[in-house]
Amino acid sequence: MSLEGVHRYIDEHRSEALDILRDLVARPSISAQDKGVKECAAHLAALLGRFGIAAEVVPTPTQPIVYGEIIRDPGGYTLLCYGHYDVQPPEPLDLWQTPPFEPTIRDGRLFGRGAGDNKGQLLAHVLAARAWLEAADGPPINLKFVFEGEEESGSPSLGAFVREHRARLAADLVYISDGGLHPSGAPVISLGNRGILGITLVAQGADRDNHSGNKGGVAPNPVLILAHLLATIVDPSGRVLIDGFYDDVRPIGPTEQALLATLDYDPVAFGATMGLPTLPMDGPTYWKRIMLEPYFNVNGFVSGYTGPGSKTIIPARAECRIDIRLVADQTTRDILHKLRRHVATVDPRVQVLERGFGTMEASRTAPDHPAVRVVAQAIRAVRGTAPYINPASGGSLPNVVWPRDLGADHIGVPYANADENNHGPNENLSLERFYDGIHVSAQVFQALADAAAAGILPRQRARGGASR
Ligand SMILES: [Zn+2]
Repeated sequence: MSLEGVHRYIDEHRSEALDILRDLVARPSISAQDKGVKECAAHLAALLGRFGIAAEVVPTPTQPIVYGEIIRDPGGYTLLCYGHYDVQPPEPLDLWQTPPFEPTIRDGRLFGRGAGDNKGQLLAHVLAARAWLEAADGPPINLKFVFEGEEESGSPSLGAFVREHRARLAADLVYISDGGLHPSGAPVISLGNRGILGITLVAQGADRDNHSGNKGGVAPNPVLILAHLLATIVDPSGRVLIDGFYDDVRPIGPTEQALLATLDYDPVAFGATMGLPTLPMDGPTYWKRIMLEPYFNVNGFVSGYTGPGSKTIIPARAECRIDIRLVADQTTRDILHKLRRHVATVDPRVQVLERGFGTMEASRTAPDHPAVRVVAQAIRAVRGTAPYINPASGGSLPNVVWPRDLGADHIGVPYANADENNHGPNENLSLERFYDGIHVSAQVFQALADAAAAGILPRQRARGGASR
């Protein structure tokens, strides 16, 4: 009965929920520019406090984290909801139809920087908890909230924060709502992400450009040095040739393999979104390559002269920027070590420089994790349609902190419309998707409580329970 009352409360408090979202979006919190972030954190913590959620602003060496909790039973099942209250810079301002921090409703959407990424989505959890507090005697599980203030700046302090507060943050599952639904509006579950390692390779020949006739055959050419090196790193099919590169790649399980075939795919339509006439592969191959396999990519290659006319030089220097997308259980540290070893063996003249910013580890929750089915059923109960289950997303996110630093598995359930335009001008959140999100969170709390009572959910590894 109480769950029905909670859903009714959410329906009856739509306009208030919208006012709360507008107020939050109106507060700039741009981590890249350190603009308004701490003020927004204080506002968010106060908001949680007003709803009866014990909350505080926890400082870190960079931007603060807003932490809140509702503990019903100290030994009971605990869900940690992660989100971020910081936003991307709004520039260029002239491309916004209405100012980014003056939230405006048009066509059933709230327009404003941070509406979808991620203020509306984190608020959905908070408002669901509030509905449980107001319409029932509190949520049926323990809830913890970690709202970060610098996700858009690479989450520099999140890992240390989680390690430092490990006991306090202890949770059985981490629930993350960020990003968009399927373009059709169908719900989605995302179980992980690829990692990323940024590298610059530098070859230095002479200390200056040299005449290619007078010195050709004598001065070393750094472009050719890098070209030969790259050819020893990747073969024409994209296979990485570095010794041991694939050693730790987590094998693709049968459930993951089966899921790949359930994902939406159209070679022509997907090709069109990339600027290609079609894609020469089937759906499972497409998704496997993006989600479950590593990829060695060259971002850019700079050297020599490419201006008008000709300049017959042997360039002094060549530089190649690389990003390597990794999958569980590869680590950036190990792959960097193996790459350095490879380069030192093949051509020790080449320098391997690490680009620290943006480095992230891969992380992946197994699709057979019992919580996946529980959450999927809860989503279906609210939305009337089963979610697509993505074994991982191709991009990189800081999710690894949850299994690595907290010992808890993570599950991603995006709430925003696919065309939320996050990071771009005219960011928006569909109001229906916002209200759906509140209902989904409320339903998920109950579904996890029921499944935990039935003993089918793993408890956190740190407490000695079975998990994976
Ligand atoms: Zn973002």
